[in-house]
Amino acid sequence: MWDAIATHISETTGEPFEILQKQTVGGGCINDAYRLEGRNQNYFVKLNHAGAIDMFEAEADGLREIAGTKTIRVPSPICSGTTGAQAYFVMEFINLGGGGSQFQLGERLARLHAVPQSRYGWHRDNTIGATPQPNLAGDDWLEFLREHRLGFQFRLAKQNGMAFNGSEDLLRQLDDFFDGYQTKPSLLHGDLWSGNVASDENGGPVIFDPATYCGDREAEFGLTEMFGGFRTDFWSGYESVLPLEEGYGTRKLIYRLYHTLNHFNLFGSGYAGSAQSLVNQLLRLA
Ligand code: ADP
Repeated sequence: MWDAIATHISETTGEPFEILQKQTVGGGCINDAYRLEGRNQNYFVKLNHAGAIDMFEAEADGLREIAGTKTIRVPSPICSGTTGAQAYFVMEFINLGGGGSQFQLGERLARLHAVPQSRYGWHRDNTIGATPQPNLAGDDWLEFLREHRLGFQFRLAKQNGMAFNGSEDLLRQLDDFFDGYQTKPSLLHGDLWSGNVASDENGGPVIFDPATYCGDREAEFGLTEMFGGFRTDFWSGYESVLPLEEGYGTRKLIYRLYHTLNHFNLFGSGYAGSAQSLVNQLLRLA
C-alpha cells in the first residue's frame, strides 16, 4: 500500500518521492493519520476503508475551494485514491502549532466569509464527522437549513430511536428568527472547532479538516462555541472585518442545534438532553 501511495505522490508532483520514515499522527476523530518523511518533502496522509474515498475527495475539493479564495491557509491537497481495501488522501504536511494570533484567525475567516458566493449548498455532498451532509444547491437559506440541515438530522435521530419534542414546530417557526436579518451565501469551513484550527511555522492561522459548503456565515459558529478554545481576540478579529448582526445570539442556537444533533447521531444518547434543551429554548424564543 505505501509503495502505491509513494508512487502516486511522485506521479502527481513530478518529483520522485521515497518514504524514508513514517509516523502516526494522533488527534483525529475519523481517520488514521500519518506523516510521511521523504528526502526533501514531507506529506500528511489520512487512511480509511476504501468506501471513504468520496469523503476524502470531498475534503480535497473543500480545501482547494478555500485555498482558491486566498484568504486563509489550508493544507494543499496532493492526491487521493484507493489501494486494496484502503482509501488514502495525501496533502501537504504543515508543522502545526498551538500558538498564533486568534485575532488574525478571526480576521482571515471573516475575509473568507466576505467572498461573494452565488448559492447556498455546494456542487457535491460531503460529510460532517462521519455523517452524510447533503448540499443540494439552492437560493433559499431557510429552506436549505430546514430541509438539508436540521430536518435531515432530526430524521436521522428518529432512525436512531429519538424523536425530539417540538422538532416539527421549530422547523415551522424557523423564519421568526430571521426577521430583519438578510442572509447571504458564504463559503464555510463547516466544522470549525478548536481541534481543526492551528498555526503554521510562521505563526499564521491554518484551518483544516473542513466540511465545506456555502451557507449563511453565522452557521460557521454553531460548533465554534460548543467546545471552547476561541478567545475574545478571535471575535474582535472577525468583527473588525464583518460585524455580527442583531439576533446572532439567538440564531447561533439554531446552528449549535445542528451540530448537537449530529453529535447525538454520531456518539449517542449523551447529547440527547442538550439537543432537547436547545429545541425547548428556541421554541420559547420564537
Ligand atoms: P480526522 O479527519 O481524522 O478528524 P484531522 O484532519 O483532524 O483528522 O487530523 C488529525 C490531526 O492531524 C489534527 O488534529 C492535526 O493535529 C494533524 N493534521 C491535520 N492536517 C495536517 C497537515 N496537513 N499537516 C500536519 N498535521 C496535520
